[in-house]
Amino acid sequence: MSTAPSAGPASEPRVVVVTGGSRGLGAGIVRSYLASGDLVATCSRSSTPEVEAWASDAETADRFLFEEADLSQREDADRFVKAVIERWGRIDVLVNNAGVARDGILGMVSDDDLDTVIDLNLKGTLYVTRQVSRRMLARRSGAIVNISSIVGLSGYRGLAVYSATKAALDGLTRALSRELGSRGITVNSVAPGYLRTEMSHGLDEDQLQQIVRRTPAGRLGDPDDIARVVQFLTAPGCDYLTGQVIVVDGGLTA
Ligand code: NAP
Repeated sequence: MSTAPSAGPASEPRVVVVTGGSRGLGAGIVRSYLASGDLVATCSRSSTPEVEAWASDAETADRFLFEEADLSQREDADRFVKAVIERWGRIDVLVNNAGVARDGILGMVSDDDLDTVIDLNLKGTLYVTRQVSRRMLARRSGAIVNISSIVGLSGYRGLAVYSATKAALDGLTRALSRELGSRGITVNSVAPGYLRTEMSHGLDEDQLQQIVRRTPAGRLGDPDDIARVVQFLTAPGCDYLTGQVIVVDGGLTA
């Protein structure tokens, strides 16, 4: 029976890439890997106080890398991955978290909004994953998690473009798991329900309370709920779980 880890030897820290880790869910995932002792790289278009703290804190500074990058631009995505390789020589875990939503029924969506959502959520994820998967293939190990959404499974009125990109990520997860599985690389989606982050600020208090009432767990999610599942999927030895979409929504869509 194989006991080969899916994401680097357990004895040494893993090199973890989390896109869009400057705030919200991505910051929660970065925090969780830093707490596990891993080497963590992240990027976003601009820095935040939390990023500055990780970069300067004696506890994390040597294990943390931040690059300003707009992942909807292929050159930026390539540059970010290159910077991680130059710093640590490999990537064991990739968490594709950066994402953006724009509200509006499809008939009224502007060209700009349509491009913004597709260019980051879908094309940005493909740019980064293309670069990272090449490196993982060469090393014959790795774990990739795509952060999709329950709206990619169930749809949501006023979020057609966003829902389409999230469903596409789940399709990417399934296809890539077949492409990379024989080389010891796992690929899964984590589909969160509603989280208290800047992205859900578009929902008013009434909508949020309605979601809470319909959620068996009786609350909105927080980044730690999702980070724990991402950690599980990328843990050494979790190498027989691949090609799946794991819904983490407090039971909302059960
Ligand atoms: P958020 O608070 O808006 O954070 C998004 C992160 O992505 C930020 O770090 C942001 O930094 C970065 N980002 C945005 N545009 C970028 C770009 N072009 N290039 C690089 N980085 C970019 O969102 P969140 O709620 O944490 O969402 C994180 C992920 O979870 C997304 O994929 C989202 O679709 C998914 N999700 C969220 C919820 C929810 O209820 N919040 C539910 C299901 C799924 P900059 O703006 O500085 O670039």
